[in-house]
Amino acid sequence: MTKNNSRSKLSIFALGGLDEIGKNMYVVQYGDDIVVIDAGLMFPGEEMLGIDIVIPDITYLVENQDKVRGILLTHGHEDHIGGLPYILRELNVPIYGTKLTMGLVEHKLREAHMLNQTKRIVINSRSEIKLGSMKASFFKVNHSIPDAVGVCLDTPEGRVVHTGDFKFDMTPVNGQDAEIHKMAEIGKRGVLCLLSDSTNAERPGFTGSERTVGESLEAVFRKAKQRVIVATFASNIHRIQQVVDAASMHNRKLAVVGRSMVNVVNIGMELGYLRVPSDLLIDPDEINRLPAHKVAVMSTGSQGEAMSALTRMANGSHRKIEILPGDTVIFAATPIPGNERSVAHTVDQLFRVGANVVYSAGTQHGVHVSGHGSQEDLKLMLNLIKPKYFIPIHGEHRMLRAHGQLAESVGIRPENIFICDNGDLVEFSSGKARYGSKIQTGKVLIDGLGVGDVGNIVLRDRKLLSQDGILVVVVTLAKNNGKVLSGPDIISRGFVYVRESEKLLEEANRIVTQTMEKCASEQVSEWASLKTSIRDALSKFLYEKTKRRPMILPIIMEV
Ligand SMILES: [Zn+2]
Ligand SMILES: [Zn+2]
Repeated sequence: MTKNNSRSKLSIFALGGLDEIGKNMYVVQYGDDIVVIDAGLMFPGEEMLGIDIVIPDITYLVENQDKVRGILLTHGHEDHIGGLPYILRELNVPIYGTKLTMGLVEHKLREAHMLNQTKRIVINSRSEIKLGSMKASFFKVNHSIPDAVGVCLDTPEGRVVHTGDFKFDMTPVNGQDAEIHKMAEIGKRGVLCLLSDSTNAERPGFTGSERTVGESLEAVFRKAKQRVIVATFASNIHRIQQVVDAASMHNRKLAVVGRSMVNVVNIGMELGYLRVPSDLLIDPDEINRLPAHKVAVMSTGSQGEAMSALTRMANGSHRKIEILPGDTVIFAATPIPGNERSVAHTVDQLFRVGANVVYSAGTQHGVHVSGHGSQEDLKLMLNLIKPKYFIPIHGEHRMLRAHGQLAESVGIRPENIFICDNGDLVEFSSGKARYGSKIQTGKVLIDGLGVGDVGNIVLRDRKLLSQDGILVVVVTLAKNNGKVLSGPDIISRGFVYVRESEKLLEEANRIVTQTMEKCASEQVSEWASLKTSIRDALSKFLYEKTKRRPMILPIIMEV
């Protein structure tokens, strides 16, 4: 059904980003022209063991490759650009983004050795791009990274506006004001449909200005007697700027640690989005040569990630930096839902080694504000754009619902609000919208270098392994008569502590022997059935004894 090719009308759908946080990818199609907005990734849930990242299923776009006019990027966050190195491999189309966004993309493509084969066009908020029968223009928005834009798409059926991620910040850190006048102007010209960021649709009020974080950071720096270590998102360049400013104001040298942080600082400085005094930065090696009150460290690990620099410092396993009693550690970020426990654990660990920790979801100390608009910001956007139809995007189902209610409250008619899942198609013709057929969507799991080669069965195996361990049963048979020459030998990992379970394993051994004898007497010699019999008998026995279901792997060898 995905091969429905020519749509005479205007249609809008998501390949990712609805009922989830991450892998944002929205599609606008008019006739034979397809425009894609963003190509993000998502970090895997706990149930996706061993999976590195998740990207959208782009089957529809690959099947309609000749119609795809380009991918427009709203800003440089991973959930908007992170899928590109994988997606462009199958879908070689031009990409459009602002200077900073493109700088971050180019770094990714260079690492993936794809820089030369990708057509990249740098835009600014004054650019106008013809994409087949559609025309794209842009407006600046405030977000936790500079150079973020919303997209206005003029189509023959009407105007479609996509906000990207945004909030309204009246005192932005880098002077990059949102183009509110432009939004109002677009609204005045008439908008058929608005797609708007729902991340904070459940939060009342306005989202605070990023500048307030700078004031709080500065206050903590002022009081600190020893070293100051700030953990924040590598993706939040405004926050990074404010840490730089606080360090510089208090005459501290700043060391940057964590691969992604170093990378963003370099790109930000190179492209002019970070202003860093020339003598401010030091190498982590130099930290111990300076007095403690002259040092600040900016690090990744605000989410308690096991391998991050801060977590390793807290555990005493970082090669260069150790947390010392009296150090001040600032978590200038809130835990993303799901990370609360690991953050709490890292905070505990830091207190144990004697650090003064500034955390608590940032609210108490004001060392974090969101980059996404709260309810009043969202209403303001709706009032500026004044769309006829509304599709809330970027968010889990309840956030989309909450955003829908906000839209109603500012006067959008309830029947004109479309709460969608990925793949739900909204069609517009003669100024009217309705649900159309469904587009294929899904998650493509990326495990190391493999793209999409890990499916449900592999995941099920990993889940079993992680929960109940594995049992390997090795039996050697004689080639001529099928008699057991050696074994069964049972090797287990992650299942039971072998020394305390000798009896259990002995019994397991006997069960295998019995099963093999039974099979022999029944003339079963086919390996597959032999293995199945062993697995079934052993699994039943182990479950009765331990209430666990380890993965059982029979290996039969013939000599
Ligand atoms: Zn973002
Ligand atoms: Zn986002």
